[in-house]
Amino acid sequence: MSARVISRDRISGFLDCILRKYPLVAPVEEDGVVAYRRVAAAREVALDAGLSDVPPKTHFFPQTEVLFHYSNLSGLEIVEPAGAPETVLFGVRPCDLRGFAALDPVFGGRFKDVYYRDKREKTTVVGLSCTSVLPTCFCRAYGSSPVDGTGADLMFTRLGERYLVEVRTPKGARLVEDCADFFTEDGVREAAREKEVLARELDGRFVRRVDLDSVKEKVDGMFESPYWGKLAQRCLGCGICTFLCPTCHCFDIVDEDRGDRTGCRLRCWDSCMFTDFTLHTSGHNPRATKTERVRNRFLHKLKYHLDRYGLAGCVGCGRCVAKCPVNIDITRVIAEIKEVD
Ligand code: SF4
Ligand code: SF4
Repeated sequence: MSARVISRDRISGFLDCILRKYPLVAPVEEDGVVAYRRVAAAREVALDAGLSDVPPKTHFFPQTEVLFHYSNLSGLEIVEPAGAPETVLFGVRPCDLRGFAALDPVFGGRFKDVYYRDKREKTTVVGLSCTSVLPTCFCRAYGSSPVDGTGADLMFTRLGERYLVEVRTPKGARLVEDCADFFTEDGVREAAREKEVLARELDGRFVRRVDLDSVKEKVDGMFESPYWGKLAQRCLGCGICTFLCPTCHCFDIVDEDRGDRTGCRLRCWDSCMFTDFTLHTSGHNPRATKTERVRNRFLHKLKYHLDRYGLAGCVGCGRCVAKCPVNIDITRVIAEIKEVD
């Protein structure tokens, strides 16, 4: 793996260089919310915003996405959207990189989702190490760390007034070549050593200790446990935890007819925390109660995703811990599960 160094005062120039060649999606802060969207200039990028409120899964799996337009005026005509352009997704934190890895087999496994895969294949992902650890973070429980570049094409780590840039894939190498003037190989070794020091320092800053040992074995036998009913009593069923989770991927598909025999088919986020998500047209609902829905959410995070794909369904980003209005905390749930008889 090769590496470069870029000074902090050249980052804006680098981002503008990207913008001259590719669409750029990056974290922006609007109305106090940090989320990822396409930007038109480097100055829009919230470089130091830390973990975003909304995860960057929105780039590959948008909240609302048109699957096709239709018209049935003189015979049925279906018009699919143009394919995704080659894009750069900048500033993805390590837990969210893991989130993409958790989503990949869902959209690219047995059933190939062309919409997700097209964007995934044409996107160069630039990771960005964290420089602080939030009280809600627990990525280390899943074997990651605030500086883990696994899943990135390029990995940026801020070290004072410069960044170490690790080139992890051919896509990343191409982006460095595209904007070669902004990088230097001088000081790479020293920066790599500084990154190791930073990694150790950040590792010592986790306040949330989460022990996943034997949790999977335990939940394998907990489907009928009364624990889920007790947990569900507190849940409001608002769905915030699922919408902000980098690995959640429930969606609904609706046709939006304009009333003139034209319209479009949309996909939009849904949530397993909502009653209607599993409601059959027959009226039967396999997850009719909140207890069943809460159980499904936690079993999905701690069991089902592992069973299906061999990957954890949680990456320890802590967003659901921070944002749940009634403080339902997955790390406490993990600890409580260990105590269930
Ligand atoms: S379950 Fe919570 S902590 Fe885990 S990845 Fe989802 S939002 Fe983050
Ligand atoms: S955010 Fe909290 S209250 Fe809302 S659905 Fe999730 S667990 Fe329930």
